[in-house]
Amino acid sequence: MAAISATDIISIIKSEIENFDADFQAKETGSVISVGDGIARIYGIDHAQYGEIVVFDNGVKAMVLDIKEHEIGVILFGRDSGIHEGSRVARTGKRAGIPTGDAFLGRVINALGEPIDGEGEIKEDEYRPIEHEAPGIIDRKSVDTPLETGILSIDSMFPIGRGQRELIIGDRQTGKTSIATDTMINQKGKGVICIYAAIGQKASTIARVVNNLRKCDAMDYTVVVAATASDPVACQYIAPYAATSMAEHFMDQGKDVLIIYDDLSKHAVAYRAISLLLGRSPGREAYPGDVFYLHSRLLERCAKLSDEKGGGSITALPIIETQDGDVSAYIPTNVISITDGQIFLETRLFFEGQRPAVNVGLSVSRVGGAAQTKAMKKASGTIRIDLAQYRELEVFTQFSSDLDDNTKAQLAHGNALMELLKQPLNHPLSMADEVITLVLAQEKFFDDVEKKDVKKLQQDVIFAVRDNAADAYNTLAEKKELTDDIRKRIIDAANAYKASR
Ligand code: ATP
Ligand code: MG
Repeated sequence: MAAISATDIISIIKSEIENFDADFQAKETGSVISVGDGIARIYGIDHAQYGEIVVFDNGVKAMVLDIKEHEIGVILFGRDSGIHEGSRVARTGKRAGIPTGDAFLGRVINALGEPIDGEGEIKEDEYRPIEHEAPGIIDRKSVDTPLETGILSIDSMFPIGRGQRELIIGDRQTGKTSIATDTMINQKGKGVICIYAAIGQKASTIARVVNNLRKCDAMDYTVVVAATASDPVACQYIAPYAATSMAEHFMDQGKDVLIIYDDLSKHAVAYRAISLLLGRSPGREAYPGDVFYLHSRLLERCAKLSDEKGGGSITALPIIETQDGDVSAYIPTNVISITDGQIFLETRLFFEGQRPAVNVGLSVSRVGGAAQTKAMKKASGTIRIDLAQYRELEVFTQFSSDLDDNTKAQLAHGNALMELLKQPLNHPLSMADEVITLVLAQEKFFDDVEKKDVKKLQQDVIFAVRDNAADAYNTLAEKKELTDDIRKRIIDAANAYKASR
């Protein structure tokens, strides 16, 4: 082999300099320094942007999440088995995004927008970045329309308005997902589009939720975005943002959307894993310093838009799992402070058979009252205070045998209320049915009934009112107002039924 002479080298260098092209924007490529745990470090891509998508030579995509002076860190959306040290990587110049469109309704997709329900391709209307700036103050409006959950304890005491963010928080297996799915089922015929973002759950759990939604005809107006526990952490990390972009597609058309993030604790854990692998310094509970921003920039995107912006809305029900009821842990306090209230589910109540296990003292809805219908506002009256008093009395009188009549009456009323607030799965109540229940509860209609018969009587009496005071019932359902006349008609019909029993 002939040695290269000094003049050759000079000519090579000269031609290199002449052909040097500064315009390397999107074509830039680099090579992998190290790969593992769903993360790769890449050398040679100097101009990548945060959040940009890069592609490996085997087709796997990744997102830039860490930019250092001489290398970048990316999170992989696929398996890392075909990627090695030295594998080539190219910039795409595009930020992470997902396809969105009306055709996605009824479908189950992954965090990248690809169908995973085996029902074929989905035609997209547009391609949206997964990260998007939240609407500003001028573009927003206060909540003014209720988002009816169909769950009596929530609609009466912790009403949710369209555009509100209400946290569902509780230990594992306390019915968090059930509250969310029941709310989705109740949106049938109400013109609300539902997005269910499943983050870090078992595939079998997600399949169960989807089957249940299908059974209740709720899939027609629902998109399920699923990143299972076995998907790469990168997919779990982007899933809620992708789902929100899907929701924004509908909100921008002026529609009302309900989005469920199930759950953000697992999301935070996925982000913590990514951050630790990227070598960021751990803070409280080993979460990175920007974990608050992780959820605040997500939930800020859920809003009620002004009329000029089309009046659409995204109502968010994020879910957080607590450990042993500890709401003061890092992630729970963060999300509590970002949202407009929380529904706190309690293990003890759940096992006592009080389901949904809503803790009345610790739950709150800060803005939904403004959106409550007049009828519901009037009917729900003092129920919260009655329950609080009952809870106190209950503890106080636990061991005493002879009680005065007043206390006895208060306990009986509380018992009846607690019984009325129990609700089986997949049985949302209409606004009118809820109002009837509350009106009769206020009248102490159920107080003298045996505990085990309360639920049955509640159902029967609702039917009786529907039949025997049909016009009052229909006016209530349409006008959403509880006049004294309607109130009287309800009570009369109920008493007539009780007497005829
Ligand atoms: P996880 O922490 O595993 O996500 P979760 O808090 O989401 O659990 P769910 O899966 O909603 O809880 O419910 C747990 C169990 O309780 C389920 O088997 C469900 O059927 C039952 N359950 C929930 N709500 C009710 C209810 N209102 N009435 C009867 N059973 C219920
Ligand atoms: Mg769950």
